[in-house]
Amino acid sequence: MGAGRYSALSLLRGAITGHRHWGRAWRAAEPGGPYDVIVIGGGGHGLATAYYLAKEHGVRRVAVVEKGYIGGGNTGRNTTIVRSNYRQPQLQRLLDYSLKLWHGLSDDLNYNVMFSPRGALFLGHSDADMVKLAERGDALIAMGIDAELMDRDAVARLVPLLDMGRDARWPIEGGLIQRRGGTARHDAVAWGFARAADSLGVDIIENCEVTGFLRDGGRVTGVRTTRGDIAAGRTAICVAGNSGHVAGLAGIKLPIESHTLQAWVTEPVKPMIDTVVMSQTLHCYFSQSDKGGMVGGGDPDFFPSYAQRGAPMRLEDSIAQSIALAPALSRLRMVRSWAGVTDMSFDGSPIIGEMPLDGLYINGGWCYGGFKATPGSGRLYAHLLATGESHPIAAPFDLARFAQGRTIDETGSGPMPQSR
Ligand SMILES: Cc1cc2nc3c(=O)[nH]c(=O)nc-3n(C[C@H](O)[C@H](O)[C@H](O)COP(=O)(O)OP(=O)(O)OC[C@H]3O[C@@H](n4cnc5c(N)ncnc54)[C@H](O)[C@@H]3O)c2cc1C
Repeated sequence: MGAGRYSALSLLRGAITGHRHWGRAWRAAEPGGPYDVIVIGGGGHGLATAYYLAKEHGVRRVAVVEKGYIGGGNTGRNTTIVRSNYRQPQLQRLLDYSLKLWHGLSDDLNYNVMFSPRGALFLGHSDADMVKLAERGDALIAMGIDAELMDRDAVARLVPLLDMGRDARWPIEGGLIQRRGGTARHDAVAWGFARAADSLGVDIIENCEVTGFLRDGGRVTGVRTTRGDIAAGRTAICVAGNSGHVAGLAGIKLPIESHTLQAWVTEPVKPMIDTVVMSQTLHCYFSQSDKGGMVGGGDPDFFPSYAQRGAPMRLEDSIAQSIALAPALSRLRMVRSWAGVTDMSFDGSPIIGEMPLDGLYINGGWCYGGFKATPGSGRLYAHLLATGESHPIAAPFDLARFAQGRTIDETGSGPMPQSR
């Protein structure tokens, strides 16, 4: 629906007529150019990049080139957890920068992304877990990021759904919560950024796959696509699970493996839980969507794959562990499971920076945790593309860190593939 067309009357009319009078939220742009910047990938990160380029840097000749439809990648497949309580200070800074943007995002985009700061709780299952959570909480507080250590009783009060018995399969000793964390509606994030970017003149070109790069010697000058060649001053890769493949089209090998990550959702039920529960020890997590379904997931598959489907045992593991934590879940019917392809970097941290070819940039390697970074990552990538300089928060995440031994080891901050 176009901006500014909401009114009680139009909503009523829409309800009666099946919303047939609604206009497109963004134009179906045709490939044009030359552009100042081409962003490859119409996921949340790519769209946010285009939006901030136009809005904050006045770069208006921007195209987002998407091989499928907007939000059809991991943006529309993820389990929507938003938090900034990571382990490494560089990531804490980056993700808290993003978390602050989440808190004002619906207003900024004039689109309800349904951000819900309902709290994100890590469970501790042993004294050793609790020591680790306490250390992480201290480190976060030292960085100015909220963290609250909870004892058993506090966890039991917050999440009555959990099995707090001393004889439980996985006893719960306490937890660490970030109250500013929570969830957001994933599709709405893609649609909100797409609509806002379009209204600033960004061309969003769907059903247009990048199949190669235009080159002038050592410089990338645009992209080769299924809908023709498109020229650009700067070309920005932002394709999540396809990072390795697309970089390969330019002859560049990235320190990234693509792995499938699965999720599941149950039938909708009345509110059972109003926070996000995660267990790093058990490699599982769950929350309840606004629609009522319990949504959960766990580890990525341990073998590399570009298939958007996963192995049954991973699904079974995460469901079994979730039921061990909250036995009432066993009474619900699972209605759906699905998978996305995530780009697992070798230190578990993203890559935002220049590629070894002039005019070519990369934002990728977000592993299984990039949704939470969407506004922050887009804004930082836009800064790099507009100014040619990395923003200080993004600077540590350059590609050269792997060759220079400056890795940012966040592996295992969530469920992780067993092969690494
Ligand atoms: C099951 C699952 C659960 C997850 N849960 C969470 C979570 O709870 N919290 C969290 O923070 N993160 C989570 N993630 C990770 C998160 O979804 C990703 O890190 C993030 O969405 C990636 O960025 P993106 O949104 O831009 O990617 P995408 O939405 O995948 O966008 C990339 C786009 O590039 C397009 N593309 C690819 N190749 C080409 C090409 N050659 N030409 C043109 N376009 C191309 C794709 O079609 C795609 O639309 C989860 C991921 C999965 C799969």
